[in-house]
Amino acid sequence: PDPLLRPTPTPEDSGEDRALRPQALTEFIGQAEARANLAVFVESARRRGEAMDHTLFHGPPGLGKTTLAQIVARELGVNFRMTSGPVLAKAGDLAAILTNLESRDVLFIDEIHRLNPVVEEVLYPALEDFELDLVIGEGPAARTVRIELQPFTLVGATTRLGLLTTPLRDRFGIPTRLQFYTIDELHEIVTRNARLLGVPAEPDGAREIAARARGTPRIAGRLLRRVVDFALVEGDGRLTRELADSALTRLGVDRLGLDSADRRYLSLIAENYGGGPVGVETMSAALSESRDALEEVIEPYLLQQGLIQRTPRGRMLARKAWDHLGLAVPQPPGQ
Ligand code: ADP
Repeated sequence: PDPLLRPTPTPEDSGEDRALRPQALTEFIGQAEARANLAVFVESARRRGEAMDHTLFHGPPGLGKTTLAQIVARELGVNFRMTSGPVLAKAGDLAAILTNLESRDVLFIDEIHRLNPVVEEVLYPALEDFELDLVIGEGPAARTVRIELQPFTLVGATTRLGLLTTPLRDRFGIPTRLQFYTIDELHEIVTRNARLLGVPAEPDGAREIAARARGTPRIAGRLLRRVVDFALVEGDGRLTRELADSALTRLGVDRLGLDSADRRYLSLIAENYGGGPVGVETMSAALSESRDALEEVIEPYLLQQGLIQRTPRGRMLARKAWDHLGLAVPQPPGQ
């Protein structure tokens, strides 16, 4: 979809991110269950003076997986090292990072479902026994050397839990699912961020942004920055409901937080397939979007909003989608 509503990071996000990222569990809004559990595990690890158990965060992009990992490291009082599945191409890349960790450090591996299988093999004994078995040399001269590692905590993040191999999944003591945020939680986040940006938002203005942010703090932050632009340039600097509404409407973001790509998706099922069911491959071809993009970016929010349903025979429009498109629900023949 439109970069404005894409839940994955854009280059423009990163600068402002740093100032706005919550730094402590108590500053982190939402994900109450995950937060409460993490507080216990952090405290227990501190009392034992040991590395915290390996932790896996899974859920759609932009919900705070990286942020929580950084907070955990900070609360444990240890270093935070960050890498990602696709970056670790060779076993040696992982070995270089692991051998540089200090005792109880947090190593964050984003997109951990995209680890190379060879690298994953090296990771298992590291996670289980804090040992690294490296093969040096080739052919008959090859030999294995065992390297002792400092105990550490791996925090893995994935948007696709189903793509993790079972052995890898089983090595995480603490799997945590992150949920889409409620409008009230996003309202709080927008209000806090607006304050930090020095442009206080009126409650209704913040709510208008929250309602269109697709349950995702990253998108809320981005919409806020755009609305602030309009408030400064075309308004009187105040972030009101009217201003947020007109700015977001002009940017193509509707009342439910849908953009043109989402509306195209829904209209296609309504107008070409009578509301479905229609298979994801067909949708992918008709919309010229990859199947992954549909399944990871567009559909999770439409499902969460109750606009579509997934059935064994494909996607179907729910009543709410017909209403949202302003179309009448077709009556089955003979009724
Ligand atoms: P993920 O790793 O799941 O893709 P990030 O941790 O990078 O998500 O978060 C995306 C953006 O949203 C960051 O700018 C972060 O500061 C912000 N953010 C995430 N969760 C929260 C939250 N609970 N409160 C405030 N800001 C948040």
